[in-house]
Amino acid sequence: MVLSKKKRAVVTGGAGFLGSHLCEELLKRDLHVTCVDNLSSGRFENVSHIEKLPEFEFVEHDVIDPLPDLKADYVFNLACPASPGLYQADPLRTAKTAAFGTLNALELARANGAQYLQASTSEIYGDPEIHPQVEGYWGNVSSTGPRACYDEGKRFGEALCFDFRRVYDLEIKVVRIFNTYGPRMQAEDGRVVSNFIVQALQGMPITIYGDGSQTRSFCFVSDLVSAMLAVSDTPSGVLGPFNIGNPEEVTVLELAKIIQQEIGLPENLVFKDKAVDDPRRRRPDISKVRAATGWQPEVPLSQGIAETIAYFRGELARLEVPAITAVAE
Ligand code: NAD
Ligand code: UDP
Repeated sequence: MVLSKKKRAVVTGGAGFLGSHLCEELLKRDLHVTCVDNLSSGRFENVSHIEKLPEFEFVEHDVIDPLPDLKADYVFNLACPASPGLYQADPLRTAKTAAFGTLNALELARANGAQYLQASTSEIYGDPEIHPQVEGYWGNVSSTGPRACYDEGKRFGEALCFDFRRVYDLEIKVVRIFNTYGPRMQAEDGRVVSNFIVQALQGMPITIYGDGSQTRSFCFVSDLVSAMLAVSDTPSGVLGPFNIGNPEEVTVLELAKIIQQEIGLPENLVFKDKAVDDPRRRRPDISKVRAATGWQPEVPLSQGIAETIAYFRGELARLEVPAITAVAE
């Protein structure tokens, strides 16, 4: 085999929603990409269209265990369930993935002298008392509640990154990702955008947890991946953490109405119990990443939602689940 001189990227969690889009963009940039995933919350279909490319390699592996001896110039660590329902279903596994998985991915980067980028999260701010959230805010996180496996796991992950920097001088970059949506979310993933669209397309009422006054700020996946790459491109020594997301903030109730209107349905909502420790509001202050990279999101919510609805229409047809085709009166 002729050894490729291409730069090599390892993407843990590369068969997931965000990871598969990142793998595609890295291939477009002419990198060799090794996707490491245990297919727990991701799926092979997300990368099956790039599987046969000689520059792409899929390694089925659980990052809780040390990674195989892979070559890497870049390590992007995305392996971790991100949907609250999924990460709370097996909290010990989530905590181990966030902690040992990050440690193992950092060790791989260290062994290769690679740049390491950590997919952290807005959840490290918990239920924030500062709004919008700035990177200097230390957060308001319950260490004992059902979200702690993820929130505290991700906080520990950030701590590990900065300690690898201090102890080994590893080139790290940390991004805190805010709610992101788009094609390749899974219909049964449980997050708000996929739930609402799938419910609406099936003519079911949309399930609002609580009174729907809680807010989120939704970023379309192509913008999010551009932000990750923009941060990766910053000079050595620019570490972050950087908030990345779209500051366009809506209530959950508004989101439901936007989706029903886009599909052409009358309002049809059902209110359920509020989720435990659910953050009341969330919006990124993105001035730090904008100043460092010039990046800012391009895709407005209305456009991204329309594209995501089109994607889920296709998914439901593929899965042979009845979806509404006619616009309701
Ligand atoms: P996802 O669940 O679609 O992707 C995660 C991927 O990691 C999946 O393919 C899954 O199979 C894999 N994985 C999970 N545990 C693993 C393990 N132990 N070993 C190997 N692979 C494992 O979620 P996503 O939305 O694509 O999120 C990707 C990353 O971005 C996560 O680290 C998440 O915390 C972070 N993030 C995402 C969002 C968002 O809105 N999508 C927001 C904040 C942070
Ligand atoms: N949510 C909801 N109905 C659903 C799914 C989620 O009302 O079917 C709410 C959830 O309680 C939260 C917000 O939507 O307030 C975002 O939830 P998601 O699980 O997408 O992600 P989070 O931002 O909480 O991690």
